[in-house]
Amino acid sequence: MKINVGDILHGFTVLRSRFSGELEGTLWEMRHERTGARLCWLDNGENNKLFCAAFKTIPWDDTGVFHILEHSVLGGSERYPVKEPFLDLLKGSMNTFLNAMTFPDKTIYPVSSRNDRDFLNLTQVYLDAVFCPAIHTNPNIFRQEGWHYELKEGETVPTYNGVVFNEMKGALAGVDEQMVTQLQKLVFPDSCYGWVSGGDPAHIPELTEARFLEAHRTFYHPGNCRIWLDGAVPLDEVLKMMDEEYLCRFGAPKAAPEIALQAPVAAASVTVPYEIGAEEDEANKAYLTLGKIVGDWRDVKRITAMSMLCTWLTESVEAPLTKAVLQSGLAQDVTLNVEAEIAQPCVTVTFRNTEEKHREALRALLRSTVEGLLAEGLDREALAAQLDMAEFRMKDRQEPAGLIRCITALGSWLHDGDPMLWLLNAPVIRALRDALDTDFYADCLRDMLLDDAHLCEVCMIPSKTRGEELRREERARLEAASADWTDADRARVKAEFEALEAWHNTPDTPEQTATLPQLALSDVSPEPFWTETETGEAGGVPTLFHPVPSNGILHSALYFSAADQSVEDMQAQVFMLSLLGELPTEKHSVRELSRLIKQKLGRVSFSGSTFDAGDRTACKPVLRAAFSCLEECAEDGADLVAEILTQTRFDDRKTIRDLLNQRCEQLTQAVTYNGSSFASTRALKDFSAAGRLNEAIAGITGLRWMIALRDAFDERIDAFIALAERTRDTFFTRSRMTVSLTATRPSAFTDSLIRRFPEGGARAADTLALPVTDQCAKEAIVIPAGIAFAAMGTHAGLLGSAWAPDLSVLGGVLTFGYLWNEVRVKGGAYGCGFRPARGGSITFHSYRDPAPVRSERTFAETGDWLRAFVAGDEGLDRYIISAIAAAEPLQSPNAQGLDDTWTVENLT
Ligand SMILES: [Zn+2]
Repeated sequence: MKINVGDILHGFTVLRSRFSGELEGTLWEMRHERTGARLCWLDNGENNKLFCAAFKTIPWDDTGVFHILEHSVLGGSERYPVKEPFLDLLKGSMNTFLNAMTFPDKTIYPVSSRNDRDFLNLTQVYLDAVFCPAIHTNPNIFRQEGWHYELKEGETVPTYNGVVFNEMKGALAGVDEQMVTQLQKLVFPDSCYGWVSGGDPAHIPELTEARFLEAHRTFYHPGNCRIWLDGAVPLDEVLKMMDEEYLCRFGAPKAAPEIALQAPVAAASVTVPYEIGAEEDEANKAYLTLGKIVGDWRDVKRITAMSMLCTWLTESVEAPLTKAVLQSGLAQDVTLNVEAEIAQPCVTVTFRNTEEKHREALRALLRSTVEGLLAEGLDREALAAQLDMAEFRMKDRQEPAGLIRCITALGSWLHDGDPMLWLLNAPVIRALRDALDTDFYADCLRDMLLDDAHLCEVCMIPSKTRGEELRREERARLEAASADWTDADRARVKAEFEALEAWHNTPDTPEQTATLPQLALSDVSPEPFWTETETGEAGGVPTLFHPVPSNGILHSALYFSAADQSVEDMQAQVFMLSLLGELPTEKHSVRELSRLIKQKLGRVSFSGSTFDAGDRTACKPVLRAAFSCLEECAEDGADLVAEILTQTRFDDRKTIRDLLNQRCEQLTQAVTYNGSSFASTRALKDFSAAGRLNEAIAGITGLRWMIALRDAFDERIDAFIALAERTRDTFFTRSRMTVSLTATRPSAFTDSLIRRFPEGGARAADTLALPVTDQCAKEAIVIPAGIAFAAMGTHAGLLGSAWAPDLSVLGGVLTFGYLWNEVRVKGGAYGCGFRPARGGSITFHSYRDPAPVRSERTFAETGDWLRAFVAGDEGLDRYIISAIAAAEPLQSPNAQGLDDTWTVENLT
């Protein structure tokens, strides 16, 4: 289809077209004349096609109205009068992305697929959802996704439940989230950015259904909508569908909502308690965060420079600000970043694990450090290295690429700016290189951190009573709300809840289900998407090569077998790996390493993991170094990786202690935030060797190992250092090694990489046997949060079977057919799933769950449900389709080479 500027296509006027070499395509901008809907199409020929509708949604309170709308419009619509079209799409589509997200100033609805028919189906369901949702006729949707009362028989005080209500209890459980929320309130008192866009559970129940529906009518008008299309989309069909089926229902645009710009505020300060567990120590548990507005969305160069300065100041223990903080002993870590995705980007400095009494001293330290840096001059080399890394990232494709471009474009387009402004990196990098020899960066640093007239401050202090207070406050709100209920009110609340339950329990009719567009198995290509693996051998080392177009970048991984190590040693080695790059080597300081990694590598990581060995009694443990670099930097990059593995110095106890404190803190927070993954890992630990080892190095046991080292540091550090040095000096040899390379074509690089490591004697064993049982343990991990996570696990080997593709199909049947309704819809948990992994482990989990015991019961009753399902007449085709889609995710070239599924089979 040939289009020109000035054409009118199905009511859309083509306004502008620009080709971009960096984007490898042409950006077409259009506007729907009658309604004012705006549209961008990035015509880049990509096989994966993305549709995304974005609305500017500006909250005016903490009820999370736009987050609840985001969930609710996907709960049935005019053309698709089923309870959850979103779920039906998950069950039977070839989508590569399907979700919706609420941001502080926008709500987006992206879908993508490589399959044309599927892409059009998804687009149509999403257009119907956002413009014609069933929320206006079915009040149950708001009650389920937002909030509702539940009044048990014989009780007079109700409870709250609702999917977003529970999701946000989990989201706001972490101290970081609470801290950011408090800071935004100080920095943006008169702007939408001061509100909790996701919703604060203390305020979500203030949202009335009428206000909720009005928000939809006001904000989901085409005049407030921006559509992003990306890839080889069937443009004519999409435009025709939009114009003739949806936009035609709307009239001229109303005034579009505007984001009120926040005028600078006077510096303000608050102290806020946050919940910790009753048995936790309160020492060093305060957090101090400072923040202010540093510009607006137009300042691409300045905001990017500020982000670079943030990295330079805090990227390692030797980075200037981190070093000053650690040396002072006032706090255990500092983080610094610029939140750039909002109309007025905001800088935040956070001192972690400190005491409230240090706040003045920390502020003085920040000031004196920045003044010192300004006086002595900034580190030009370090900043230049960041620009090298930015150039590497331009070439290093990340997925989902189309969605990333859409969100990036909205950074300016949402504010009526040029959608290309944040998308093009090359001109910004050029301008920032030119600025290296000017005062530009120094000026940015001064503005960002020295000028503190508008710098707001939040101090979070630990409290053992705060959790109970929050629960008491919620009870008090419920008591107040129900205090003057008459019998008639009570009857109405009961009736509403019964109606909700009745709705949950009434399946969609076959006629309703038939309204949804359905792919047939014949629509799906019989050719799988597949990353080839060519196995070989070089100098006695097994090699894996994955041919993937990688745009001039080499992605490599070195796996070293750890099968002869004890579990305890491997716990220590995993911690040791986490220190690499953050401790000096014989040749370079940490600052030099940080710079060299950016110049020569672009990406490097060190980790420990385990692969399945085909039998649950054994596993294949490895220590892994993975890195990516430009082809022309490959030799230097390989030198650097080898140097870090074999020449790192472990003699600085103080720095190891600082890093250990940081790791313990990060992992402890992760348990609260991502409890289902820790619970699942824990549930699997006794059934297989891989499960046992994985839990010991990456689960609760791994965390306990680190905490034990921290708490008995002086007694245990020498043993740790001795092990780390022994590992460094003797472990990284060819006799343990398997090398993987992912690139456009094979290269001699693999041989050259291998030669950097010593021979190391006879080939090491690669499987480790560990004791396994079939005994079920029942455990609970206590976390300070108003929400829980449930998990239950087993192993296919216990059931006398191995992993088979059928299990993937069963995964879809149980997750979408059973658990979604029982655990999410009825139980109120934000997430849930049944996951069979190729290694044989099988888990059920719930995420941000108000009723974990109920969920465990649901998991246990799966057999009954499944028997009924098998006896029923629901076909399996759509579950087969979604299982195929799940096996063909969008993956960056780097991830394709690291995909455990393939390396497992090829690691010998
Ligand atoms: Zn949500």
